[in-house]
Amino acid sequence: MNELRELYQEYVLDHGKNPRNFRAIEHPTHVGEGYNPLCGDRITLQLVLDGDDIRDMAFQGAGCAISTASASTMTEALIGRSVTEARAMLEEFLQMVKGEGEPDLDALDKLAVFSGVSEFPMRVKCATLAWHTLTAALEGREAVTTE
Ligand code: ZN
Repeated sequence: MNELRELYQEYVLDHGKNPRNFRAIEHPTHVGEGYNPLCGDRITLQLVLDGDDIRDMAFQGAGCAISTASASTMTEALIGRSVTEARAMLEEFLQMVKGEGEPDLDALDKLAVFSGVSEFPMRVKCATLAWHTLTAALEGREAVTTE
């Protein structure tokens, strides 16, 4: 668990400063907007879906290091996967950061570094914002707030 905590700090610093897939997609098929009023995090998520395949995913916005790092890690983890896989990972991720159930940490791979967030209830919404925004984008709901 200490190992995960160190990894988490490294991840948040690294991805918070140098977010991956922080860009605009010219012709997205799905778009979602998320806002976390508790912290002021805003994210616009763009996806290119081809049937069930996630061909591309990128985000823009402004938020704290945790929300940025979470969005960055999410795009890295999900590009090239199917929407079905993404939804399964979303469930596991939400369980993990809320400290509920027994999430499958192996299936979550790199996302498991965010397990430490469950110790900080105030930051859970920062870590889940990108994922809630993904749900909104997939369901065609453009805007979502964590409240
Ligand atoms: Zn935040």
